[in-house]
Amino acid sequence: MTASSDEALLAWAERIEGAERAAQSGTTRPLRNYQTTAVDAVCNAIDAGQRRILLQLPTGGGKTRIAAELIKQEFDAGERVLFIVPRLSLIEQSARSFEAEGIADVGVIQGRHHRTNRHARAQVASVQTLGRRKLPDGIGLAIVDEAHLQFKTLQKVMGCRSWAQVPFVGLSATPWSKGLGKWYRLLLKPVSAGELIGAGHLVPPKVFCPPGPDLSGVKITAGDFNEGQLSKAVNTTELVGNVIQTWLAKGEQRPTLVYGVDRAHAQHLQERFIEAGIAAAYIDGETAMFEREDIFEQFRCDDVKVITSVGCLDTGLDLPMASCIVDARPTQSEMRHVQTIGRGLRTFPGKVNCIVLDHAGNTRRLGLVTDIDYDVLDDGTPAAAAKRKAAKRICEAIFCGECHAQLPVPKPRVCPDCGKIFYAVTPVKERDGELVEYGSNRSGNAAEPSPATKAIWHGALLRIARERGYKAGWATYKYREKFGHWPPRFPATECEPTVEIRNWVWSRTIAYAKARTSL
Ligand SMILES: [Zn+2]
Repeated sequence: MTASSDEALLAWAERIEGAERAAQSGTTRPLRNYQTTAVDAVCNAIDAGQRRILLQLPTGGGKTRIAAELIKQEFDAGERVLFIVPRLSLIEQSARSFEAEGIADVGVIQGRHHRTNRHARAQVASVQTLGRRKLPDGIGLAIVDEAHLQFKTLQKVMGCRSWAQVPFVGLSATPWSKGLGKWYRLLLKPVSAGELIGAGHLVPPKVFCPPGPDLSGVKITAGDFNEGQLSKAVNTTELVGNVIQTWLAKGEQRPTLVYGVDRAHAQHLQERFIEAGIAAAYIDGETAMFEREDIFEQFRCDDVKVITSVGCLDTGLDLPMASCIVDARPTQSEMRHVQTIGRGLRTFPGKVNCIVLDHAGNTRRLGLVTDIDYDVLDDGTPAAAAKRKAAKRICEAIFCGECHAQLPVPKPRVCPDCGKIFYAVTPVKERDGELVEYGSNRSGNAAEPSPATKAIWHGALLRIARERGYKAGWATYKYREKFGHWPPRFPATECEPTVEIRNWVWSRTIAYAKARTSL
């Protein structure tokens, strides 16, 4: 572990401790401006008679903080609050985070939970419990966590006459599910992900979009790709190998979360990471709670570098140090796409951005996560559908054809990542299944690296050859593999290889080993 990640970890531990101390002393840090705006907007709406409010907040926008503030205000008004979570596993976590926010009077409605306390003024319940249990009396406010996930049991309560006057506040980063507007009438958006990034409350994603898998034969089932067919399409030796190679070349050895299509795919990814010498763990819905916690702990102290999973690393995940997301699960769902990338955008000491390696083509298919947004909820009416369609932006993300990095708009003349110079302006092209960057002509115009860059590569390759006890000829061959021609005759000066060069050599070694084993 490096000194800087040590410091980062220490700072993080201090923050957690600070929150715990605050909980004990009953004081908490002040709300951020937009959080105050959000709380005020909700209260004003309730005062104005609104009873079904959807509060949209980007992942990492501090929704627990806002919920806690709403709960405190209800307490001050002498009311009780019901907080509804979408899964049993989130009950304990929610109760704990409210305590950390200085709310001590929290009970839980679930079986013989050790926090059961019918008299507590805040009650945490899962939607599953709602249908089976008698609900507490005198609730002045109900808050619904992850409100885009819709449940019949919850809708029954919301539609029931005795609950008609109780304000329901749904919280969601992605309130875009079908029919959500039938249950919530008012959409509040106090802040966007882009604004949070601008203010430094989230880090920006740095997206690479290498050529995605061929999904032409994959059917759409219930609005998304058929999982079985999808798994067959992406869980191939070649595509999984690509994921590992791209990570070695661009992942900067960062703490990484990897999303696969299904168990077989995610486990395959884990195996290949381990083969490449990377400490990788695997988690799915069946992984025991203590085992998950153990893996998270190892991830926090850098003993595990990569966690592969099947969509269960989502709600309530507390791993802000994750600064690389590998998305290998193609989806048609904007909600899934935004939630997946959102896991990496939380701030952490020393973290400046989140590298997104989009092997699923999701950014190209659905757009940049910071661009996807709607002003109206889907209530099933043609008017709302038309409004949403009009608001839908066309995917404007452009990528470098050389390194697949997302490029700023307007397109620069030089790729800020790999230095490729873009010459002619031509329409989008696709050649041999490889994505060519929008607005550039790849044929014959690929930027030639400068002689100085090439000399550095040659010198670095000579150094690696010596380190490994290879002949100098190895460096010559590697040079040709990289640049497509032999190095100049005059000898290069040996130099220290950059991380990029070492990673490239490493990725080539793996590619070679793979080619050998598949013979
Ligand atoms: Zn580039």
